[in-house]
Amino acid sequence: MTTPDAATALFHDLTGRTPDGVWSAPGRVNLIGEHTDYNDGFVLPFAIPHRTYAAVGIRDDRRIRVASTFADAPVEFALDELAPLFPTAPGREPAAPEWAAYPLGVAWALQLAATGSGAELRGVDIAISSDVPIGAGLSSSAAIEGATASALNDLWRTGLDRTTLAGIGRRAENEAVGAPTGIMDQMASMLGEPDAALFLDCRTLDAHPVSLGMAGLALLIIDTRVSHAHSTGGYRERRASCEKGAAVMGVPALRDVSVDDLPRARELMDDVTFRRVRHIVTENQRVLDTVRTLRESGARAIGDLLVASHASMRDDFEISVPELDTAVESALDAGALGARMTGGGFGGAAIALVEEGAVQAVSDAVTAAFAASGFAAPHIFTVTPSAGAHREA
Ligand code: ADP
Ligand code: MG
Repeated sequence: MTTPDAATALFHDLTGRTPDGVWSAPGRVNLIGEHTDYNDGFVLPFAIPHRTYAAVGIRDDRRIRVASTFADAPVEFALDELAPLFPTAPGREPAAPEWAAYPLGVAWALQLAATGSGAELRGVDIAISSDVPIGAGLSSSAAIEGATASALNDLWRTGLDRTTLAGIGRRAENEAVGAPTGIMDQMASMLGEPDAALFLDCRTLDAHPVSLGMAGLALLIIDTRVSHAHSTGGYRERRASCEKGAAVMGVPALRDVSVDDLPRARELMDDVTFRRVRHIVTENQRVLDTVRTLRESGARAIGDLLVASHASMRDDFEISVPELDTAVESALDAGALGARMTGGGFGGAAIALVEEGAVQAVSDAVTAAFAASGFAAPHIFTVTPSAGAHREA
C-alpha cells in the first residue's frame, strides 16, 4: 500500500468513513548550514521525496483525535482542553504521548494564531502515515507538523500563509513537545520546491529558492541508524554555548559575528565556547559561499565546502559520532565530490554528493566500511529536491 493510501485506510479504520482530504508535507535534508538556524543565521535545506500524509475529516463535535501508523493507539482530547495542556513546562510529565504532542501541538498553536479571526475551529479526526525515516535527522517532526498544519489551515479556513504555518509547527515542537529546535525544518517542509534548495535567512525568514543544477549528479543520504534525540543534552548544551558566546561578544546572536571577529573572540572566551562560536561563524560564511558557488558554477563545485562543514562539526562543534565520520570518510575515499553529516548531530544521517555513475561504488564502499568497523549496516538512498507541503486529494 502506498503511504497516502495507508493514511486513508487508517482514517477509515478509525472512523468508518472516507476523509475530507489528504494533505502531505515532506522531510528535509540540509545541504549546509548546521546549528546556524537558532543563531539567526543562514541555512540551505531542501525538501526530500519522503513525505508524511494526514488524512483528515471534520467531526460533528469539538473533539480532536489523532492516530498514526507509527503509534499503538489513537489519542483524543476536547479541542477546548488543548490550551491547558500546552505549553509543556520543562520537567513536567507530558500531558499527551510524545508523538501525539506534535499534531495536537499544531492544533493548539493554530487555535491561538486564529483567535479572533472568525475561523471555525471544528473537531477533527486525523490519521497519519509516513515514509520519512523517523529520528534520522531528516525531520519527520517537521513533516508531521506540516501535514497537520496544512490540513487544519484548510479545514478550519484559517487562511494562514506558509511561513506562518512553519512558525506554528515550530511553536508546537518547542512548546508542546519541548524540543528547542529552530525554524529551518518547518520552513523547508512548507516552502520546498522541486529542483531547488531553499536559501533561508533565519533572522528575517527571507527565503529564496536556489537552483541546484544536479544534472549528472546524485545526492546520497547515508542514514547511520544511530538515533539522535533533539530534546536531550547535547543539543541544549550547544545552544547554551552559542548564547554565551553571543553575550560575550555583545551581540544579539552569533549571526552578528563575522570571520574577521574571530581573533577577538578567541581572546574573550574559554576554548570550548570559542570553538562553538567558530563553527557557527564559519558555517554561516560557508552557506553564503555555497549559494554563490551554486549560482556561479553549479553543484559540482561545492564539494570542498561540504567537507569543511563536516570538519567544523566534528572538531569545533563536536556533534559527530564515529558512524557519521566513517560515512563521510569512506564516501570521500570512494570518490564522492563532497560529504558531511547533516541534521542536529549525535547520530542521524550524512550526505554525499556523487557523480551519478558513482552511486553504486560509493554506496558499496560506505557499506563495507561500516561492516569493517562493526557498525550496523547503514540505510543508503538518493534524494532529489521535492515539493513542499500541499493538499493531495
Ligand atoms: P527527526 O525529525 O529527525 O525525524 P525528531 O526527534 O525531531 O527526529 O522527531 C521524531 C519524533 O516525531 C518521533 O519520535 C515521533 O514522536 C514524532 N513523529 C514523527 N513522525 C511521526 C509519525 N509518522 N507518526 C507519529 N509520530 C511521528
Ligand atoms: Mg526533528
